[in-house]
Amino acid sequence: MNLNDYPIEHLYVHVPFCPRVCPYCAFHVRPAHRTDGETFVRRLIAEHRSFADSLRPATVFLGGGTPTALSIEMLRRLLSALLDASRGDEMEVSVECNPSTFSKQKARLLRDCGVNRLSIGAQSFDPSVLRTLGRAHSTAAIFQCVAIAHEAGFTDINLDLMSGVPGQTLDSWSSALDTALSLKPQHLSCYALTYEDDTDFFLQHQRGELRGDQDLEREMFHLTDERLIAAGFIHYEISNYALPGFECRHNLAYWRGEDYLGIGPSAVSTVRGARRRNSRFTPEGWKVEHEEKLPSETLAAERMALGLRTAEGVAESAFAARFGFAPRARWLREIQMLIQGGWMRPEPPLRLTPRGREVADEIAVYFV
Ligand code: SF4
Repeated sequence: MNLNDYPIEHLYVHVPFCPRVCPYCAFHVRPAHRTDGETFVRRLIAEHRSFADSLRPATVFLGGGTPTALSIEMLRRLLSALLDASRGDEMEVSVECNPSTFSKQKARLLRDCGVNRLSIGAQSFDPSVLRTLGRAHSTAAIFQCVAIAHEAGFTDINLDLMSGVPGQTLDSWSSALDTALSLKPQHLSCYALTYEDDTDFFLQHQRGELRGDQDLEREMFHLTDERLIAAGFIHYEISNYALPGFECRHNLAYWRGEDYLGIGPSAVSTVRGARRRNSRFTPEGWKVEHEEKLPSETLAAERMALGLRTAEGVAESAFAARFGFAPRARWLREIQMLIQGGWMRPEPPLRLTPRGREVADEIAVYFV
């Protein structure tokens, strides 16, 4: 793909290290070691440099993995190379952080380098749920992490929370929401646990040692909506809530089907209809392991599946202008069926009803 013709506005950086690998995690991660970190930082800076002329990022997202698992010195080198701190809040710069890998020094460094959005992997405030999830941090560490972030001047903070965890009750989830709100975040990502292939949880689920409870998960989903909307949050994507003006611009770009460049091990890019995926991390580094031009049909289907996850939905005229056909021309039967079933609103833009949002993953299958 030729990336030099026009600037790419969204940059994702995959940092594949974590203090401990959680048993439900399907991302490409490994426990952090100093030598790996050194190799990673050197190679990532070189990879970023190779795209420098093609990038004019409006958003940058450092995820993984746990970017804050890197040492202060490594973070300093990495962020200085990736970011132009002089651009201030014109650019949204998010960093994912695990409460066990945060400190006042790291918080200050992130702010000084231009990071203006912190996404904290809290998951739960219930010690027994944290234990089940194999998290590397305590409940107290979450409070401390948020306090440090506030003290360092972060005013755009996300907390990740997880529902549907075996053993988690509706009361525990309700109190997690209340505690999260008491910490005054601007954004909450509330994900239901899924049993992904190649994880310990998947095997335990297969063996019947871990079980989900769909009715309880649905109750949790309703409670989340009720509680967060009453607190002034907008439910702008199936799993994401934000105070007005604090929607994550980077993730919105994915759901809107905009181009993004991913760098680092296992990172994925989609630029001008071409998708590229990097290999996993090895001590020798990583390389592009797959690249393909996606048919317009595939991109259109992805646009529908992802766009329907958002509250703004899919504007039919913009869709037709981009892909050359109207959604109702291609998926008339599916759309009619969803409208008749009460899962999709009849009026434009194409958007799911609250009932449709409960089964958004199943609905996506109709389009892809
Ligand atoms: S901290 Fe996050 S990225 Fe790291 S192993 Fe756990 S779930 Fe995966």
